[in-house]
Amino acid sequence: MVRAVRDAVGPDFRLMVDANHGYDALEAIRFGRAAAELDIDWFEEPVVPEQLAAYREVKAKQPIPVAGGETWQGRFAMKEPLKTRAVDILQPDLAGTGGFSEARRIVDMAALHGVRVVPHVWGTAVHIAAALQFMAAMAPIPVRVNPIEPILEFDRTDNPYRQAVVMQPIEHEAGVVQVPNGPGLGIEINRDALAEFKMAEA
Ligand SMILES: [Mg+2]
Repeated sequence: MVRAVRDAVGPDFRLMVDANHGYDALEAIRFGRAAAELDIDWFEEPVVPEQLAAYREVKAKQPIPVAGGETWQGRFAMKEPLKTRAVDILQPDLAGTGGFSEARRIVDMAALHGVRVVPHVWGTAVHIAAALQFMAAMAPIPVRVNPIEPILEFDRTDNPYRQAVVMQPIEHEAGVVQVPNGPGLGIEINRDALAEFKMAEA
């Protein structure tokens, strides 16, 4: 499957794989070794998030950079993965970590350990807007003249609720998403859409 996708998108398109912790370490290592020649940016959640030793083993025994962290909630859960370098790329989720302040601390911790941060984003346009504002305010790591471009996770699976909840849907143009520039998160909630999707009166 990965080969078919690489062939379809060509050599210049950046490609990542996400196992959603569906493998054990042996499978993940075997997969990573086989898929590495297809120029994969990162291998996300190869194993069960709680198995940090398995994370480190996958990281050591196959060549694709390992990403994870969307289910590690808050700075205390990030401490060991960062200290023991269980991942190359840390993916804190703004909602899961408890919001901007905690995510800010996590980014600082990652910077201290030299681990790259790509926030995890899933859900509605509200979450996407929050992540965009957060990423726009992230200092580059490392600081240099042309810093590493931030990457926004931008789910494309079918979800009619995702963009309907805001007045101005957040879309990409040729792979680039603008940071919404209204007050707060930069978005306005579509109350009519919320009513439409409501399942029952509370
Ligand atoms: Mg994921």
